[in-house]
Amino acid sequence: MPDSATTHPYHAFQGLFRREQLATGEYQLARRHDAPAAMADPTGRMLKIATVDAGATAICPACASTARGAFVSFVQDLRMAYACPSCTSVVWLPGV
Ligand SMILES: [Zn+2]
Repeated sequence: MPDSATTHPYHAFQGLFRREQLATGEYQLARRHDAPAAMADPTGRMLKIATVDAGATAICPACASTARGAFVSFVQDLRMAYACPSCTSVVWLPGV
């Protein structure tokens, strides 16, 4: 994914999340208080956010590290996005 988004955490998360370092050295994501209500999918289409589950421990599909990332679900779209605090990728997951 040669995407400038992956190198700039703010843009990678589209302003949705802040990356925080814990005392253990791990990173976790917290939702920003001024987070937008929509997120662009890989084609640039804006999707309205339904729910955000931040701070959940998960294995990142992109970098395979275990981290406290955030899952985002959308209104009228079955996909989910996982935001990884380790590699700052946003990985799109097919809906179930
Ligand atoms: Zn990752």
